[in-house]
Amino acid sequence: MLATLVIVCAAGLIGAAAQPAAVDQEPNANATSYATAADPMILELDARLAPQGLMVAHLVIPARPGPFTLVYPKWIPGEHGPTGPLGDLADLRISADGNALTWSRDPVDMYAFHVDVPVGVSHLNVTFNVIENGPEVMATRNISVVNWNRTLLYQNDTNSHDVYVKPSIILPAGWDYGTALPDARRTADRVDFGTVTLAMLVDSPLDCGRYYRHVPLWASGSSYAQLDMFADRPQDLDAPADILAAYKRVVPQALAMYGARHWYNYHFLLTLSDAIGFEGIEHHQSSDNRGPHDFMTNPQWQLASGDLLTHEFSHSWNGKYRRPYDLTTPNFQIPMQTDLLWVYEGLNEYLGQLISFRAGIRDPKLFPEQVAEAYAYLDNEPGRAYEPLIDTATGAPFLYQARSNYPSLRRTAGDFYTEGELIWLDADTIIRAQTGGRKSLDDFLRAYAGPPNTGPVTVTYTRQDIEHVLASVVPYDWHDFFQRRVYEIALHPPTDELARAGWRLVYTSTPNKFEENPVEKEINAWYSLGLSLSMNGEIRDVRYGSPAWRAGLSPGMKVVAVNGEAFDNDVLTYALTRAQHTTAPIDLLTSQNDHYQTFAVNYHGGPRYPHLVRIPGRADMLAKIAAPLAP
Ligand SMILES: [Zn+2]
Repeated sequence: MLATLVIVCAAGLIGAAAQPAAVDQEPNANATSYATAADPMILELDARLAPQGLMVAHLVIPARPGPFTLVYPKWIPGEHGPTGPLGDLADLRISADGNALTWSRDPVDMYAFHVDVPVGVSHLNVTFNVIENGPEVMATRNISVVNWNRTLLYQNDTNSHDVYVKPSIILPAGWDYGTALPDARRTADRVDFGTVTLAMLVDSPLDCGRYYRHVPLWASGSSYAQLDMFADRPQDLDAPADILAAYKRVVPQALAMYGARHWYNYHFLLTLSDAIGFEGIEHHQSSDNRGPHDFMTNPQWQLASGDLLTHEFSHSWNGKYRRPYDLTTPNFQIPMQTDLLWVYEGLNEYLGQLISFRAGIRDPKLFPEQVAEAYAYLDNEPGRAYEPLIDTATGAPFLYQARSNYPSLRRTAGDFYTEGELIWLDADTIIRAQTGGRKSLDDFLRAYAGPPNTGPVTVTYTRQDIEHVLASVVPYDWHDFFQRRVYEIALHPPTDELARAGWRLVYTSTPNKFEENPVEKEINAWYSLGLSLSMNGEIRDVRYGSPAWRAGLSPGMKVVAVNGEAFDNDVLTYALTRAQHTTAPIDLLTSQNDHYQTFAVNYHGGPRYPHLVRIPGRADMLAKIAAPLAP
């Protein structure tokens, strides 16, 4: 059914500034786009003020006379929520044929802007400032991350696959750029790109910067993959040869795993900046990766977060090419439903980890240590007593934003990633066990997102589709499997996959290599006292019911001293170790809002960190899973 946009104009205001009432219907994608391939929307992004945290968007938008509504993208693919940063839009001006037009914001949908288009006008000129460092830091003096959804308005209720845009960017003098946008033509500091759909534009971010390095990673015929790095300091681009060699194995390992690709060329965009911080957003033919300044030069970062680029790359297949039906929306105003993120992100968490080990970014021998860390957190998470995993996925748009006190009691958006890894490891071990090692999850991946090669298209799925594809690989009650692991409450995650793989979980006094990583700047006393602390003692979380919680400690406090000694990790570890041989409590002196208080924590179990150890006599399936595939 073709519905048209209904806007009720207030009586008596004809000829005056447009003052429409609220859009009176849910957002849809049924309107005919006036921006076509022959007459596309023009977007010229002037990024010359990026070092000052501003860009200026100049748009020419095809329109028709009468009431007309423009919208700012709200639900952003890959961000899984209504995260379009409306506060970044400033100084909005709309004109036609040189005459300024009055616009008004919709009183209910604040992402919509109404304007009355005069008779005879076919194009609107729209200009606004893009504030780059509003909710998130997107630019420094030397780098700018361009997410095009922040730089445009588009015709309301159109399908973003039917809206055409011709983008261009004016770079700060001497800067270079990286993007998957096609048909680039550079003239001095101006780059013009070919006409693309609005969907593809928003799916093709651009990084630019003063200090850059482009590293070819892979090529086959006319297709290629490359790493585009942008740093605040030139020396941070000096990634050592062994780290780059591992990244050159990423594409062959992913192709061996999936058996085909759904991109023509692929750009790993990567910023190296402490100011911009840590982020990863997937796209069909690129990924928007943001790491700290020494991400590519400090091997500790590769151990801690060496799955950043591999996770986002795997999303090109799992998430962009194959995507949950109810997460796939025809434009950026229609709400997404996120319940199947336990596949989209959960499966991808497993695959991103595997590619990082198989490519050798991390030593495959450390895979059991990584699994132990993932398992132990979930096994000590009080919130799971009342909340099934599915609720963390369904509530993801809210949970991604909720990062304050007691995350372990609320459960977090991280849960469907971490537990997803274990669920899909479980599925992998079931397939391997049921087929005597002849098949693995890789067979599922080839059936799910494999051949033939295609360009960037999307094929949707439901939970039932996933269960059918799995059953085609090996007959099993996959519906019941997911029902138990995802949809029902379980205080402890099952250990089936660990046992099947020949391993079991233990706690020892030796820190887990993935938890105690110095670059993560956290102190983990979660499995002993029940505390997660920053390096300088700020309490980030207290495990409900733990010794620290029973003593009265809470997030927001800062531990200043342990048994009378100034706090640091060594002092805390010494106190934990010594308490094993005494009945005296551990005294923690804390400060909070200028108030000092000592808490006596009764804990005598010593330092505790999770690890996996082999079950004698059982085959080591984890070694097989983490081993590189034959390209
Ligand atoms: Zn992801």
